[in-house]
Amino acid sequence: MKSICLYCGSSNDVEPKYLELAKKLGATLAEQNYRLVYGGGSVGLMGAAATAAHEAGGKVLGIMPRFLLTKERIFDSVEHRIVETMHERKQMMFDESDGFIVLPGGIGTLEEAVEMLSWARLGLHCKPMAFLDEGQFWDPFFELMGHIVTGKFTPTEFLELFAHTKSPMDAIEALEIRFKQV
Ligand code: AMP
Repeated sequence: MKSICLYCGSSNDVEPKYLELAKKLGATLAEQNYRLVYGGGSVGLMGAAATAAHEAGGKVLGIMPRFLLTKERIFDSVEHRIVETMHERKQMMFDESDGFIVLPGGIGTLEEAVEMLSWARLGLHCKPMAFLDEGQFWDPFFELMGHIVTGKFTPTEFLELFAHTKSPMDAIEALEIRFKQV
């Protein structure tokens, strides 16, 4: 079974369509027999995806730093590991997964996704990444990436490592295509 790491927002205050998409993704991962690896919380899109995956009979691994146990409300109905720092969390989420899906999120989501892309840029791994939204959420990010490539700060080939997808199945397929290439 492959494991897919999910980066996504922890806010509960977002438009319901984002929480719905997270639920759809969680259920689809379970149905397609992928293990969901994520930050371990019950809040926001994180909680929505993990709960849906769990309820659909999927495997879920949550990785949570001790100091966030209360704030992000650890989801303890699934397998979870408690670590001491954000760095440990990020490293373990990376080690436990074969690729990444990035749902809409805030600065934490962006930080996690960009760090994994920067590790890929340094040649430290070639695990693929799919950004997923059903609208335009990630458009500005892809515009920024295009701008960076146009300025020749990053080679064009780098853009092949990550996809912009519009449904959970598209995201999974985009990862699968890239799994086969490496
Ligand atoms: P946000 O997108 O800001 O709602 O954050 C999404 C998730 O990313 C939350 O679970 C945060 O705890 C987590 N996060 C934020 N910064 C980091 C970091 N430096 N390393 C690992 N996780 C982080």
